[in-house]
Amino acid sequence: MGHKVSYEQANAAFAKLSEEYEIWAPKRFPKKGRYSDTDMIRYDKVSSVEEIEYKEKSDMPAKEVLTPISESLFYFTEDEYIESKATSKKLLIFMRPCDIHAQHHQEKIYLSNGNFEDMYYKRMNEKVKIVMMECTEGWDTCFCVSMGTNKTEDYAAAVRFCDGELLMDVKDAELAPYFDGTAADFKPEYIEKNQISLTIPEIPNKEVLTKLKNHPMWNEYNSRCISCGACTVACATCTCFTTTDLIYNENANVGERKRTTASCQVKGFDDMAGGMSFRKTAADRMRYKVLHKFHDYKARFKDFHMCVGCGRCVDRCPEFISIVATVNKMSKAIDEIVAEQK
Ligand code: SF4
Ligand code: SF4
Repeated sequence: MGHKVSYEQANAAFAKLSEEYEIWAPKRFPKKGRYSDTDMIRYDKVSSVEEIEYKEKSDMPAKEVLTPISESLFYFTEDEYIESKATSKKLLIFMRPCDIHAQHHQEKIYLSNGNFEDMYYKRMNEKVKIVMMECTEGWDTCFCVSMGTNKTEDYAAAVRFCDGELLMDVKDAELAPYFDGTAADFKPEYIEKNQISLTIPEIPNKEVLTKLKNHPMWNEYNSRCISCGACTVACATCTCFTTTDLIYNENANVGERKRTTASCQVKGFDDMAGGMSFRKTAADRMRYKVLHKFHDYKARFKDFHMCVGCGRCVDRCPEFISIVATVNKMSKAIDEIVAEQK
């Protein structure tokens, strides 16, 4: 059993909730897109249902609420450091199913990878309640069905946007009184078929993996990929960051430590002291990213591939490089290597 809630009732609920919650959702920023006449859809705080952009996919994923592109971690002097302040409110975040799955990958990396807990991520993550935005049609670059991320039961509330009203399934006892509306028969539905699909390749053994790493298929990215990193910044699951100390004045001991999103696709990402660099070419970096999403992560954590099929890397790439086409080429290369082994 669900509820039907008018926009007016929902906005009154938002107003009451905002005493305790920040409400985050995809929002349209006119003329802030890649070109002067295109819009940007990204996460921001909202105070009314009308502000939520639900008819189009957001350019940026929900991860930017918990891990913004740039954030201050702490402030320091010679004698002490002071942790930056996190919001004191709880967070209600509207997300699609793929972004909810991506959130689990983020949790794994920030909270349990190598038995290390990132306190800055944790302090935000423990405040989150998810409102799942029903997604039944997707867009031309989505392949969530192939990745198994098209469905989820992990939400405090689920919502279908209808003209002027919401249909809601509220599971969370704390949220329920805010959205009680009139009773309605509603259970969220999920997309069952995307416009594109991807067959996830299996790499049968280490020998095939080694040969795949040296396969000539990667070379085309030396001329195609400009190593801008746009794909990873927009990726729902990428977590890499770098840290920088901002020094306020001539005293190098007084300042602020910031962390900023970093990208394995940008030259210099893996430079080490002494001048060592692991991946010197765009082809090396592309191979690393694709294998990380479609082999290494699952090999390490033994559960899911890292990619959730949101397609944002495809949407954002200025060189029209598609991860689906790349993985399909990888499957073909694996088949060739396996055939040679027989
Ligand atoms: S690799 Fe591309 S499709 Fe996969 S989660 Fe990242 S942005 Fe989405
Ligand atoms: S794949 Fe595209 S978006 Fe990613 S670094 Fe290369 S050119 Fe930039």
